[in-house]
Amino acid sequence: MKITLYNTLTKNLEEFTPIENNGVRIYSCGPTVYTYAHIGNMRAFLFADLLQRVLRRVGSYTVRWVMNITNIDDKTIRDSQPNSPAWHSALGVQTGDALQDLLALTAFYEREFVSDIAALGIEAKDFYKIPRATDFIEQMQDLLRKIVGNGYGYVADGSIYFNVSEYMKKEHYGKLFHIDMAGFKTGLRIDTDQYEREQVSDFVLWKGRKEKEPYWDFDLDGTNYPGRPGWHIECSAMEECLLGLPFDIHTGGIDLKFPHHEDEIAQSKAGYGIEPTRYWCHNEFLEVEGSKMSKSAGNFWTLRQLIEQGISAIDIRYAMLAAHYRTKYNYTSNGISAAGKARQRLQDYIYAIIVDAPYADVSGEIANDKMVLLKEEVFSALANDLHTPKALAALFSFINANTADSLSVSEKKDFVRLMVDVNAVFNCWHIGMKEDSVDAIPVEVRDLAEQRLAAKQAKNYAEADRLRSEVLAMGYKIKDTKDGYEVSLSD
Ligand SMILES: [Zn+2]
Repeated sequence: MKITLYNTLTKNLEEFTPIENNGVRIYSCGPTVYTYAHIGNMRAFLFADLLQRVLRRVGSYTVRWVMNITNIDDKTIRDSQPNSPAWHSALGVQTGDALQDLLALTAFYEREFVSDIAALGIEAKDFYKIPRATDFIEQMQDLLRKIVGNGYGYVADGSIYFNVSEYMKKEHYGKLFHIDMAGFKTGLRIDTDQYEREQVSDFVLWKGRKEKEPYWDFDLDGTNYPGRPGWHIECSAMEECLLGLPFDIHTGGIDLKFPHHEDEIAQSKAGYGIEPTRYWCHNEFLEVEGSKMSKSAGNFWTLRQLIEQGISAIDIRYAMLAAHYRTKYNYTSNGISAAGKARQRLQDYIYAIIVDAPYADVSGEIANDKMVLLKEEVFSALANDLHTPKALAALFSFINANTADSLSVSEKKDFVRLMVDVNAVFNCWHIGMKEDSVDAIPVEVRDLAEQRLAAKQAKNYAEADRLRSEVLAMGYKIKDTKDGYEVSLSD
């Protein structure tokens, strides 16, 4: 089925066509790993996951999906400095070696991140690569040489900046964020990774070495400029290296449109002579209880804080997917409990009908006209700019109109067939017998739970926590009891 997507670059809904026959290449800006990801970040990753699933299942494409790990930027450096309050006890003692401490801190939060997204139903098998920025310093330096060589970069105070006014003589800076550059003042420089649209200026590509910060040598025309990459150049170099240019779709939260994505376009064009991608797709913000999420407002939730409050990760996945990605999503505790009930209702319906239509029996095509129509309705909603609310509405209106008992065995089989397809996109349900979901705890999960108990008894609480999140990442939860513990499905 043809997929239509909203392209931020053209501000239009466009029918998607891949550059290469049948294979879609997607790049998603990933997390900056200096702390636990919050649920606003999670919405962006869930959106990218939804997109790649729709392309695979509804569009029948193969997908190469890359999501980077930003492990070097202003924040990861700040938080790995000596005596940083962000240093996690599980990491032991800081060594004082700037690069080693940075890599230790970011490797820790990267592991936590990978386990968080797994708990949200984003599956490791769907990624082509999850590259770390520090593994691509050479490629970043190659791109820097190209940008400077083409006349779009210059050295100032040991750092290298992108020359926006030079670029504007030939190219359109501001095409993604649709900025009016009429009042642009030349020669202003900014060297932070993030800045506001009012501060548009020459941005930093390579930051000169600062004392006590990690750095790499960089030979440019025979002169060494020790330093480290700016945030924007990291993505540009990894995209070119891992996907080739241009690739098909670039995703991210709407907050990344400027400056990050605008600067990515400029760097690619200035260095490689090619824009990075054809479709820019952005998800809208997430709010909490009607207001912007912020630490000072006390509504700054990480995924694991919500799980500790007893909220199921899969309900969070469902609730976020049930809202269209281009509308603001308002996270509320009432909303999440309503979403959980809706998800469970469909789950119960599946349990009720699967008794007569075991999963093993449902290979083959949907046969009944009414089910063919339902599938058509659900898939065309998803194909239309990932309209998940419409797809779910179609499913719920069907189950409202047809009790499980009223379906014939052949219709039941069709419904299970349909849900296998739907779940390949939503990944929110268990398509199987109710009992399987409780009894069949995989042996790997049991092993991890045992190791956790041993770690806890040895008072190694950091390790016990880590194992608990690993178990959670596999979809199970551990509950401590007076005789030991119990393992069950996390939803
Ligand atoms: Zn990026």
